[in-house]
Amino acid sequence: MTKVKIAISWLDACAGCEMSLLDIDGAIVDIAKAVEFTRTPITDIKEFPNVDVGLISGAIGNEEHEEEAKELREKCKILMVMGDCACFGGPPSMRNAFSKEEVLRRAYIETESTKDGKIPSSPELPALLEKALPVNAEVKVDCFVPGCPPRAEAINYALTELLQGRIPVLPSEMMRFD
Ligand code: SF4
Repeated sequence: MTKVKIAISWLDACAGCEMSLLDIDGAIVDIAKAVEFTRTPITDIKEFPNVDVGLISGAIGNEEHEEEAKELREKCKILMVMGDCACFGGPPSMRNAFSKEEVLRRAYIETESTKDGKIPSSPELPALLEKALPVNAEVKVDCFVPGCPPRAEAINYALTELLQGRIPVLPSEMMRFD
């Protein structure tokens, strides 16, 4: 059986979405058997190859995130975003009420635990964007799995549909969080 090639990208994220992915328990074994993981946060592969499915969690918060989302979009047939950060901006977008300068000053200089703070300025560091953005502000997204984190059954449903070659349309009961 030909395996479905997947690449995974973590942008401005907390790993909670991936914890929810692990919560699909035994089903992850069937999924793992059907896919070939390429570049992911846990594989040491530097470039995105051409893949069937791209999976992004996290908002786009800096220039490196922006480049990575664009590169993965070019290399995948179907792009799925997972979690409220990737779908809508989520918690990273809480900074959007402030200017980039205010955010950096608060983080590196004004926090109560900081003494003689300094805003990092190395050219090797990716520049923060003015706003934290949902992924579809920069690239076309084919499938959204919202939630913070998304429910494990929603992730399982979406991945199972993708492995069957279908673009998932999540049932409404999987989009409820009460
Ligand atoms: S959606 Fe929630 S759980 Fe997922 S990366 Fe964002 S903050 Fe973390």
